[in-house]
Amino acid sequence: MNISPVVFDEEADISEYATFSHGLYIGGQWRPSSDGRVIEVFDPSTEAVIAAVPDATPADAAAAVNAAAKAAAGWRETAPRKRSEILRRCFELMTERAETLAALISLENGKALRDARGEVAYAAEFFRWNAEEAVRISGEFGLAPSGANRIVVDYQPIGICVLVTPWNFPAAMATRKIAPALAAGCTVILKPASETPLTAYALAALYEDAGVPPGVINVLTTSNPGPLTAAMLADPRVRKLSFTGSTGVGRVLLAEAARHVISCSMELGGNAPFIVFDDADLEAALDGAMIAKMRNAGEACTAANRLYVQAGIHDAFAEGLRKRMAALQIGPGIDAETECGPMITRKAVEKIDRLVKDAVHRGARILCGGAVADAKGYFYPPTVLCDVPPTAEMAHQEIFGPVAPIMRFDDEAEVIARANDTEYGLAAYIYTRDLAKGMRVASRIESGMIALNRGLMSDPAAPFGGVKQSGLGREGGQKHGISEFLEAKYIAVTI
Ligand code: NAP
Repeated sequence: MNISPVVFDEEADISEYATFSHGLYIGGQWRPSSDGRVIEVFDPSTEAVIAAVPDATPADAAAAVNAAAKAAAGWRETAPRKRSEILRRCFELMTERAETLAALISLENGKALRDARGEVAYAAEFFRWNAEEAVRISGEFGLAPSGANRIVVDYQPIGICVLVTPWNFPAAMATRKIAPALAAGCTVILKPASETPLTAYALAALYEDAGVPPGVINVLTTSNPGPLTAAMLADPRVRKLSFTGSTGVGRVLLAEAARHVISCSMELGGNAPFIVFDDADLEAALDGAMIAKMRNAGEACTAANRLYVQAGIHDAFAEGLRKRMAALQIGPGIDAETECGPMITRKAVEKIDRLVKDAVHRGARILCGGAVADAKGYFYPPTVLCDVPPTAEMAHQEIFGPVAPIMRFDDEAEVIARANDTEYGLAAYIYTRDLAKGMRVASRIESGMIALNRGLMSDPAAPFGGVKQSGLGREGGQKHGISEFLEAKYIAVTI
C-alpha cells in the first residue's frame, strides 16, 4: 500500500487528496495496519469509492498507546505558553487551509460546502480558544477551617486520553476534544468514524506542521472499533475516554470504561424541541428553524427534531417552512450551489424513510418532500410534515435528516411537558417576543443548552453538552472543556 501523508497545495484539485491511502498516524509516523487491511471510503453523493485507509488492529492500538505514553512526560512538562503557541498555530493553519479542508469534508461526508466551511471555522476556533485557556489553568490556595494547614489544589493533566468521534462533524468533533486535551497537557489517541477518516488524517498532517511533537496526537482508523477501544481502555496508562456519538454506543463504552474506572466525557444523541409561541417574530422563527433543522442537512445532534408551534401561528409557520424547504437546492455537497447534500449512508436514508412512513401511517400530512428519489447517491429530500402525532416514532428518536415534523400546541405548560417527554436532553430552541416567558420556559426545559430566539447555539466559548441520556460533561466554555482533561491534586501543607 502507498503510504503518504496528505500534502496541502491550495492550487490542487481536491480529488487528489482523496486518492491518497493514508497511513495510521502513530508516534509521528504514517504506517499501514499491522495486518495490511484497509477500509474503503465512499463519496455519499455518488456511492463511488474515493480512498482507502488502514484498518487498525488491537496491536496498532497498543502501538498508539505506547507512542502516547512515550510523549506524555515531555508534553506535560512543556511550558503552557509553548503549548498555547502550538495550539494557536493549529488555528492559523486551519484557517489558511480552510477551503481545502472544507472540500475534503464535503467530499467524504457529503455536507454542503457552505456547511463544511462553517464547520472548519468552528473546528479551528477550538484551537484558538484553548490556546487562550492553556495559560490560564490556575490552582487554589487556602487555609483549612481548623487553621492547622494550608490547602493547596493543583490541576494536573489527567493522562493519556482515548477520543472517539462521529462522522457528522469530522473536523469539529475531533478538535473539540484534541485542543483542550493538549492545552491541559495530555497526549491523545483519536479514533475517528470509519466513514470520514480523511479529514482526521488531513488534520494530523496539519498538527505536525504546527509543531505538535510526535506521539502527542495519534490517529487510528478501524472497521471494528469495539475490540480496539476495549484494548486501549484496558491499558492502565489510559486515564480518559472522551466520546461523541450515539447514546447506544455511549452506553457500551461507559460500561467498558467502568470496568477499568476510567474518567468519561460523553456527548451523545439529542431530540431537540423547537418551540414557536404565537407572539414570535414569524420570519425570525422561520430563519432559525432553517438553521436549526437544515445545518448539515439535519445530521446534527442539536438538530430541531420536533417543531412545536402554537395554534395561532401554526398555519403561517407551516406554510413558510414548506416554501423554504421546498426551495432548497439538493446535490453533491462539493457543488457550490448545493444547500442540502446527501445523507452519510444508504442505511441512514432507509431509517429516515421508515420514520416518515411511520408518521404518515399514524396521521401526519406531508407538506413537501417525503419520497426517496431513485438515483445514485444517498439523498433524501427536504421534507415538512404537519399533524405529527406524539406517538410517531420520530417524536422519540433522532431523525438525523432533512425532515421537519410540526406539532401543534395550545399553552405553555403543555409544550413544556411535551418538550420534556423524551429520554434526551441536549438542545432546545424557543421563539417568543416575551423575554420573561422565554427565560421561564428555558429554565423548565430539561436540556443542557437552550437557544432563545436563535437557531444556533454552538460556540467554543460556551459549555456544550447534555443532560439525561444526552451525555455527561461539557466541551468548550470557560474552564468546562479543559477541566474534563484535568485532575485536581490536593496538597495539605503546614507553613
Ligand atoms: P456512533 O455510531 O455512536 O459512532 C460514533 C463513534 O463511535 C464512531 O467513531 C464509531 O466508529 C464508534 N463506535 C461505534 N461502535 C463502537 C463500539 N462498539 N466501540 C467503540 N467505538 C464504537 O455515532 P455516529 O452515527 O457516528 O454519529 C451520530 C450520533 O452522534 C448521533 O446520535 C448524534 O446525536 C451523536 N452526536 C452527538 C454530539 C454531541 O455533541 N452530543 C455531536 C455529534 C454527534 P465507526 O465509525 O467505525 O462505527
